[in-house]
Amino acid sequence: MANNKRLFDISKDLFPGGVNSPVRSFSCVGRHPIFIKYGKGCYIYDEEGRKYIDFCLSWGPHILGHNHKVVLNAVMHQLYKGTSFGTCTNNELVFAKIIKKAFSSIEKMRLVSSGTEAVMTAIRLARGYTNKDIIVKFNGCYHGHSDSLLVKSGSGVATLGVRSTKGVTKQLAKQTISLPFNDIKSFKKTCRKYFNRIACVIVEPVAGNMGVVLPDKQFLKSLREITKKQNIVFIFDEVITGFRFCFGGMQNILGIKPDLTILGKIIGAGLPIGLVGGSREIMDFLAPEGDIYQAGTLSGNPLSTAAGIAVLSYLNKHENLYKKLDEDTEWFVDQLKGVLSDKGIPFVINRFGSMFSIFFCKKQVKNYNQALKQDTNVFKRFYNFMLEKGVYFSPSGFEANFLSIAHHRADLKQAINSLKRFHN
Ligand SMILES: *Cc1c(COP(=O)(O)O)cnc(C)c1O
Repeated sequence: MANNKRLFDISKDLFPGGVNSPVRSFSCVGRHPIFIKYGKGCYIYDEEGRKYIDFCLSWGPHILGHNHKVVLNAVMHQLYKGTSFGTCTNNELVFAKIIKKAFSSIEKMRLVSSGTEAVMTAIRLARGYTNKDIIVKFNGCYHGHSDSLLVKSGSGVATLGVRSTKGVTKQLAKQTISLPFNDIKSFKKTCRKYFNRIACVIVEPVAGNMGVVLPDKQFLKSLREITKKQNIVFIFDEVITGFRFCFGGMQNILGIKPDLTILGKIIGAGLPIGLVGGSREIMDFLAPEGDIYQAGTLSGNPLSTAAGIAVLSYLNKHENLYKKLDEDTEWFVDQLKGVLSDKGIPFVINRFGSMFSIFFCKKQVKNYNQALKQDTNVFKRFYNFMLEKGVYFSPSGFEANFLSIAHHRADLKQAINSLKRFHN
């Protein structure tokens, strides 16, 4: 039987760092990655035949669990008809109508192949629409790996211990301003300093890439009001939050209407997809209607949209599942907190809906804040212990974890019981 360690040794000779995305290398938990053979429900199975309860869920997409039958059937059905035609399909229309039903802020949209690509498109669109150049983002928020947005961009980069990345030119970095999350004063100051130069403000409405940091509602409301007055395009990056807490996005929960919305992850049920959507007025600036160019060979891919239609129709039909996911995650997180408290290990667990993060620190504090230093040694020991016991969390203390409807009480109890045996 294949061995994870041996596979990684081979992998290191084929891919930089042995991986095709940095956080997969498990470098921050001090071990080699596991190689996954298949997944079913809330479980993944590695090449050594070991079974894990999965709380990473491919970083969020699998809200129905791995290989849910509605997704499997839809993809199989499409597979027989073809995988890509490079031209229009009815799948795109059906898919788009479901998105519009869920998001009142989206009148028109463009489908692409990843969240990164959708953000790139949104930025170009915002600049072309406003004829301005500066982008404002917030520290710790991640918006994909395009050059302009890799400034202070949270988990992946934080995990590697660098604040920014080489290969992004100074000129470009200068056009991106990164401000403290939840700090409206610094935003107002920036608006005065760069008056009439800011093209857009992009924000994760729940910051999922620095340890599930909740937004101050007034912060997002003020951003909305100020951007409206100053002709700044306000962008919600709902790649994680879209369809995670309700049939729609965080904007539905907050009652805030952004100009552009970015979606990804859940809407593709594990197949590559991204989406940027907004008002007719802005979206029609895109080619071929307008003169802002954007294109893609696999955009609106029939397999991805088939999977998307399946998962979104399911979520629409079973909206009560969100309440259950919320309750189950609350129960699970309470149990985790109880066990860690009993052991006297200082921690912060943040949660919103079915999304949570586990953070270890040097001494016990009430709330997570961005200045908090992570005790990476404790995280490493915790992570390795849990993995050994068959519990797979996201392999970095800065990343979010998720529940799916396939996680049953027995699975959650099993994870808790494993944690009870952990000794720091
Ligand atoms: C994952 C993520 C992205 C990037 O999406 P990819 O499909 O990985 O390119 C963008 N924004 C947020 C908030 C994300 O979580």
